[in-house]
Amino acid sequence: MNQNLETNMTVKGPKIVHSAEGATPVITQYLEIKKDYPHALLFFRMGDFYELFFDDAVIAAHELSLTLTRRGKHKDQDIPLAGVPHHTADTYIARLLRSGHKIAVCEQLEDPAEAKKRGYKAVVRRGVVRVVTPGTVTEDPLLEPKTANLLLAMAEHRDEWALAGLDLSSGDFFVESLLRHEITNRLAIYAPSESLMSPRLFENYEDVHEAMCHYGGLYTPMGPASEDLTSARRKLTALYGVASLDSFGAFRDVHIRALGQIAHYIETTQSGLKPSLRAPRLIRTEDGLMIDAATRHSLEISQTQKGTRKGSLLDCLDLTNTACGARLLTQRLAAPLTNPNEINQRLDDVVWLMGQKDILVTISALFRNFSDPLRALGRLGLKRGSPRDLISLAQAIEVGEEIARILDQAFGMYNPNGLGTILTLPSGLMHINKALKPSSKLAELKEKLLIAISPEATGPLREGGFINKGIDEALDAHICLRDDSRRILVGLETRLSEESAVALKIRHNGMLGYFFEVTLKQNDSLKSWSGFADFRLKQSLSNAVRYTNQALSDLDHAIARAGQLTQSRELEIFDELVSFSLEQRVELEALTDAIAALDVGIAAATWALDNRAVRPTIDESSYFEVRAGRHPVVSWSRQQKGESFTPNDLELDQTGHKHPRLHLVTGPNMAGKSTYLRQNALFIIMAQAGFFVPAQSMHLGVVDRLFSRIGAGDDLAQGRSTFMSEMVETAAIISQASDRSFVIFDELGRGTATYDGMAIAHACVEYLHNDIKCRALFATHYHELAGLEKSLTALGNLSLSAREHKGELVFLHHINKGAADRSFGVSVAKLAGLPPILIKRARQILGELETQKNDTLSASLSGELPLFFNHYDHNGPDYTQIVSQNHLNNHPILEELNSLNLEGLTPFQALTRLYEWKEILNSLSDKVCEKVKDAQ
Ligand code: ADP
Repeated sequence: MNQNLETNMTVKGPKIVHSAEGATPVITQYLEIKKDYPHALLFFRMGDFYELFFDDAVIAAHELSLTLTRRGKHKDQDIPLAGVPHHTADTYIARLLRSGHKIAVCEQLEDPAEAKKRGYKAVVRRGVVRVVTPGTVTEDPLLEPKTANLLLAMAEHRDEWALAGLDLSSGDFFVESLLRHEITNRLAIYAPSESLMSPRLFENYEDVHEAMCHYGGLYTPMGPASEDLTSARRKLTALYGVASLDSFGAFRDVHIRALGQIAHYIETTQSGLKPSLRAPRLIRTEDGLMIDAATRHSLEISQTQKGTRKGSLLDCLDLTNTACGARLLTQRLAAPLTNPNEINQRLDDVVWLMGQKDILVTISALFRNFSDPLRALGRLGLKRGSPRDLISLAQAIEVGEEIARILDQAFGMYNPNGLGTILTLPSGLMHINKALKPSSKLAELKEKLLIAISPEATGPLREGGFINKGIDEALDAHICLRDDSRRILVGLETRLSEESAVALKIRHNGMLGYFFEVTLKQNDSLKSWSGFADFRLKQSLSNAVRYTNQALSDLDHAIARAGQLTQSRELEIFDELVSFSLEQRVELEALTDAIAALDVGIAAATWALDNRAVRPTIDESSYFEVRAGRHPVVSWSRQQKGESFTPNDLELDQTGHKHPRLHLVTGPNMAGKSTYLRQNALFIIMAQAGFFVPAQSMHLGVVDRLFSRIGAGDDLAQGRSTFMSEMVETAAIISQASDRSFVIFDELGRGTATYDGMAIAHACVEYLHNDIKCRALFATHYHELAGLEKSLTALGNLSLSAREHKGELVFLHHINKGAADRSFGVSVAKLAGLPPILIKRARQILGELETQKNDTLSASLSGELPLFFNHYDHNGPDYTQIVSQNHLNNHPILEELNSLNLEGLTPFQALTRLYEWKEILNSLSDKVCEKVKDAQ
């Protein structure tokens, strides 16, 4: 299993490989194993501890705050050592994973007693049984119950790209085709814990590299062998134990390459153990609402911009009661639908459930007994399962059965005439109901598990005692023997105590087995007893002496043997039950999927009832109409604080016939522009994901892509300024939006000089309106753009107003038709707590500026204003620019002249430049003259 590991391991972690020359036998064995895992921390099992040596010890001691000690010397240098107890290793492993490490777990593969048989100095055989990596963990303490833990792999072949994903904990395995420019968006949706990719792709494609660094989780480079098609097929068929992949569907070669990398990695990290997985499924991404990474981030769909779940749309909507339901809800919000029929089917379910308030409560309570059967299967398949996992499968089947009964009853009441007109029932729920009814195989599994496993079995497998009595004759016989021997033991203790007149105590420990124990005082009396001749000394302690005799020694062996037989028979029964459970994987998947869908449906219905939400009308029309809409997250959080939220309307029509297709939204800072824009974008996500929306009504002609550009900050990690980030996001929207898209722009052009910004915003509005023709909201503080309403027929103006009342600013948060006339900037500054003296001065300057609005530039202020001064007249925007004398030195023409390489110009080129400059200056001075005349 170790071939290719060098190339497969992550780049993080120690890399120094020590030679084993002159080392002790154990350190030689350690170094021999370690050389195959140079980039993982090797947890080397020594008795009850995992020990780390050399650089691994230094790293682990640092990351886990452990004491760093020494264990002998190697090549005259101390060997650093750090250790963790094996029974608490999971906690340490979790912490190391979180700090981006991989851990190779090396176990003792034989009993030390076995090793001793090979000679006194023989070293216990050891080997790595598993490499724990962020993308391949399966243990509950290492997983987030509500989030899928994904391992992704990317492949490219002749410009075709594919992305495969595996959630090893639940067995979900999928692959999709994608275009290179979509990689960032797809990675942002999946948010993997770890991604596999060949260094050829990682290093040669800058955009792919950037996407991986941002959204790919831990990067694990794959060796060239993993890209080979034949090897990929072989790994996949081996993983599933099938002869060919044909039965899984029609995969393209590039899909197989991506899936194969995952199969290869699983083989490597799980030491050849075959996990129980779903058949790989091909995902068609083109059917869903496309939301790019920047939009996801700015709309705070599954996490806030600060990276927390709390405060996101997902957090607000998540009223699910099962882990699989929570994961499905996350998936649905991440990938809303575009097909009105499919959306309406989900909404039908919600409507029906809303009418069944009683059963919503009963079923939600039952969900609490439904633990995660697919994750339990995942652990059982990898031989990491416990009796508890088997019990959870039985409980899951029971819960399904019980819910199906409740649904049947409710469906029956829906059909009181018994006419069989069940057509009124939502098809989604009927499908769910069918999947919840256990097949004969699942019923059999449930019976077997309930009969076999003791409900009190909560400990790990090695503790034993989890199989009920009376289900297996052999096991019962072993238990009987063990218990009988124990009874005989008690009898022996009583008999010999009586005979010797010494209160003998039979005790047990792992090293000595069973022994008689007497105190030093009792020891003298014992020695004078005639039966003492049979006693053999086992151990002398400072305050006690321990003996055995033939009878006790025989019993000790008999009990140990019976214990071993009991344990191995229990394990055999456990393995049989595990195999039988794994055989029912497909049906358990269907059951879990049905519970997840029902849980999401009930959560959606409960949310709708709690939040007075309505069913959106979804069709292929060109409309987007909302009456009295409330931002789902902001209105909820204001409500928690006892504050009200002002509902607002929106009317858009892509054709521009009934309503504008694009609205400019103006208003002072803090008036609620961003909230309004986001609210409407979130409504689209909720509606197309199959949720009700918090409004009086909503009518939506489905949207194919959703874009949001809201207040980008400097992206220093990528070396981008705010303005650059703004422009990159804008370029992405402009190039990808179609006439069926919905776009929100918040304050475009703020990151640059006023007139550059205004010009860009103006051009962008025109482009959206005339070329892309999509539904859009465009919030801007450039009130001058409002005049575009005159020239762009499908553009409308909306504004959020504020009033000054007794010197205080009052925000109404109410959307009105028409543009805002004032920005109240100084009042907002006052509200923010700027000193009164500063506010007073700002008001004075504002007054001066307002009186000068139609004059030429004020000489006193020219030093603080840009080179070009805008004259705005109320008939529309006007970018006539007047040259400020004070800035002639900074004039772009002079700057260009300054930096011009005259030697590099031909006479003709020089003459042409001169003509161009003259023309620019002429046209400017004409405009200045006109303005001055107008002003006079
Ligand atoms: P802007 O984008 O105009 O600066 P925001 O959208 O950031 O304003 O909103 C400013 C504040 O106003 C937020 O704290 C928000 O809670 C509150 N707010 C926004 N819209 C509403 C509304 N419709 N009703 C009540 N409060 C609102």
